[in-house]
Amino acid sequence: MSEPAAMTVAEGIRTAAESLSAFSETARLDAELLMADALGIERSDMLLRAMRDAVPPSFAGLVERRSRHEPVAHILGHQEFFGRRFKVTPDTLIPRGDSEVLVEAALELKPGAACVLDLGTGTGALLLSVIAETGGRGVGTDRSPAALGVAHDNADLLDLEDRVRFHLLDWRQEGWAGELGRFDLILCNPPYVEESAALDPDVRDHEPHGALFAGVDGLDDYRILIPQLRGLMEDGALAILEIGHEQAEAVSTLAQTHEFAVSLRRDLANRPRALILT
Ligand code: GLN
Repeated sequence: MSEPAAMTVAEGIRTAAESLSAFSETARLDAELLMADALGIERSDMLLRAMRDAVPPSFAGLVERRSRHEPVAHILGHQEFFGRRFKVTPDTLIPRGDSEVLVEAALELKPGAACVLDLGTGTGALLLSVIAETGGRGVGTDRSPAALGVAHDNADLLDLEDRVRFHLLDWRQEGWAGELGRFDLILCNPPYVEESAALDPDVRDHEPHGALFAGVDGLDDYRILIPQLRGLMEDGALAILEIGHEQAEAVSTLAQTHEFAVSLRRDLANRPRALILT
């Protein structure tokens, strides 16, 4: 009796990509990453084996989870950001490609940053990416103990644990800035989504709302943070804030009110994505 012809990895990827393309703009990549996970190998090694190897049994379950809009980063437990792999859980925002522009700006404008502060660090992706390149030290804060656990794990994974400290801190509470000290670079990707925004189900149902939503106009956290930044900055320091692509004007105005000079950086899609405050 002959076995039914098993689907090859290549065919499995193609079939899964077809079904995920109903809603995912990255269906092919999703399917490849899930297949590599099912095989327990890197995606680059997998592509070489795709023509001859059979689909492993766990692949169907992974595609099934993705079909229910669970983000690939949550299924895999990690996400690439600025060339490094970061552990991700549902307790943190998934690092986005758009946020890499903050790291680029930091390395370009402050390549020698010795002391970096990351407010609302989440996975630690911004902070750890910058200090890995500059060789400097850093402090990350978050109001979520679970997120700080993930940031710690990422510092360990990247062998940066000796150069970072993490603090549990909620900037919506009085006196938060007091004991942090001063820094020559501040990074911050605060929550900035309008309360009423209709988010993609992948985001809405799987990522922490506390890291996303910021009041009626999405500006609540900038209103709290911007007036406090000066007290956290050394002479000549700069602060780099991520913004929603329609918030450049509102946040710039707020920063100018507090006597900052402001310049803008755009993301890969050429949308406004970060403001640099000096
Ligand atoms: N860029 C994220 C999104 O649109 C929002 C990130 C944030 O609020 N800091 O899903």
